[in-house]
Amino acid sequence: MYSITIDETKCKVCGECVNICPNEIYKIEDNHLVIGSNASECSGCQSCVSVCPNEAITITEI
Ligand code: SF4
Ligand code: SF4
Repeated sequence: MYSITIDETKCKVCGECVNICPNEIYKIEDNHLVIGSNASECSGCQSCVSVCPNEAITITEI
């Protein structure tokens, strides 16, 4: 299982992680990036970490 952390001071809500995540973990609501209730489905692929232009995402195996 993986822990997903967003640094809100770095996130610019660009939506790149929303678009790339194969498991639709991320959503944008009220101009904020939110992690869905399906976060446990994260496969740890790190695609979101790679695509984020602001290094706002950390994925850690737990
Ligand atoms: S690591 Fe992969 S599955 Fe997990 S949130 Fe990022 S893109 Fe989605
Ligand atoms: S890719 Fe990075 S900056 Fe863009 S919405 Fe996701 S976490 Fe925020």
